[in-house]
Amino acid sequence: MPASLVTVAYLIAGVLFILSLGGLSTQESARRGNVFGIIGMLMAVSVTTLSGRIGNFPVLAATVLVGGSIGATLAARVQMTSMPQLVAVLHSFVGAAAVLVGFATYLDPRAQLTGVEASIHEVEIFVGVLVGAVTFSGSLVAFGKLQGFIGSRPLLLRGRHWANLLMLLGAVYLGTRFVGAPGEGAVMDLGIMTAVAGILGVHLVMAIGGADMPVVVSMLNSYSGWAAAAAGFMLGNDLLIITGALVGSSGAILSYIMCRAMNRSIVSVIFGGFGASEGSAPVKKTGDAAPVGQTVSVTAAETAALLRASKNVIIVPGYGMAVAQAQHPLYEAAKLLRDHGTRVRFAVHPVAGRLPGHMNVLLAEARVPYDIVFEMEEINEDFPETDTVLIIGANDIVNPGALDDPSSPIFGMPVLEVWKAKISVVMKRSMASGYAGVDNPLFYKEGTRMLFGDAKKNVDAILAELHKSFGAAGTDAPGDAGGGSSAARAAAQL
Ligand code: NDP
Repeated sequence: MPASLVTVAYLIAGVLFILSLGGLSTQESARRGNVFGIIGMLMAVSVTTLSGRIGNFPVLAATVLVGGSIGATLAARVQMTSMPQLVAVLHSFVGAAAVLVGFATYLDPRAQLTGVEASIHEVEIFVGVLVGAVTFSGSLVAFGKLQGFIGSRPLLLRGRHWANLLMLLGAVYLGTRFVGAPGEGAVMDLGIMTAVAGILGVHLVMAIGGADMPVVVSMLNSYSGWAAAAAGFMLGNDLLIITGALVGSSGAILSYIMCRAMNRSIVSVIFGGFGASEGSAPVKKTGDAAPVGQTVSVTAAETAALLRASKNVIIVPGYGMAVAQAQHPLYEAAKLLRDHGTRVRFAVHPVAGRLPGHMNVLLAEARVPYDIVFEMEEINEDFPETDTVLIIGANDIVNPGALDDPSSPIFGMPVLEVWKAKISVVMKRSMASGYAGVDNPLFYKEGTRMLFGDAKKNVDAILAELHKSFGAAGTDAPGDAGGGSSAARAAAQL
């Protein structure tokens, strides 16, 4: 294929990637954005294959077939709740690829560069391998933390910032030895630097606490983009540079947005933990904090009666809704209430679930209309005028300790202020803590009711009760709870 055609095709693919990112910025256009991305990527891979720079087609075909099959199988099988882990592993692959490309281009016997050109190329290799190694090992640790193999609490070693600085300076020193010094010694320097960068990646992510993992995932996304851009420089591939820069910068912007939403400083998240003292070790993920205080339990029938008696309802979904896959019956219940005149809205916290936009995806899958789904800052002031809040599998994002307990590891993070409503019903299976491993004082508040059990089973039961109650009472106005003792009790509570 002529070089000019390759350049034009790369340019078109680059534009398609930009359109793809633009499309992904709103839910309505996300599907279109994905289609642009798929077309761009197909074009990029085909054009690169036919560009004349690839000689060994059988090897390429075999690797694409094996890698593609593994990727397709994993993507088809992965549960929505395990997506963050999959994303973390994929980031680690990008990091590993950048490291391998770096070593391969350095050791390539066909390399003919001399003088300044050779030095620039070596700097590209050095930076690519450094960023790639940090991304690789950091992403593996992020995978372990998200999967629960590694505790979610930050590992805060004494003098950790000095250790990080030392490792970075050590890597730079090795870089100065590596550039312009051919031979086995240079390969050794590159190898030692790779190991140091790998340890740095592990240490940086180990120092970050559970509640800050969303930012880490998007930061590693950004690093993987820069690693890909560096690989693009090493290989002299313009499209890889453009794509890497797009991923790198959009990941950095997402990290910034998430930090702002969580009221965190991006620098303190990147350079390790806050709210925990130095020397603390990671602990097991769930059930870290012992429950304190008395709770009031309700049944599904009582919850249905409460909803039936409410004029204003807000539903707060969290990670547990994703685990239980309760979004479909939940929307059925919301629709039923809306059809009978109740105002029902969904409130989405920016870090609910385990992936940016996790809840939006699940609600869209259940066909919840976008105009009743609100971001935290759009709806947080409405809780005092709300009769009932249904908190389904959410925990950290509704923890009042984030606002009033300076000793809490999530102190400072804005949360949905559900306790300001008349009644909050918390749906979860036990008193276990959420991802951040902290107890939730919400459970012991006067207006809180606990509905224990699997969220899907409980929502099914609530839906059945609502059908029964609306079927029996016709189309009463909201607030008129109909007959029966639990309905009368519900009306009295509101
Ligand atoms: P949490 O992890 O705080 O709480 C989820 C709750 O769901 C648990 O307390 C659990 O309690 C309950 N649950 C689990 N399974 C079920 C089920 N089948 N039925 C009913 N309940 C269930 O989730 P949130 O969404 O409130 O908060 C998200 C947390 O994850 C934050 O700390 C955030 O920082 C972190 N995070 C977010 C990421 C993101 O990008 N959004 C990425 C990484 C981390 P029980 O076991 O008792 O049922």
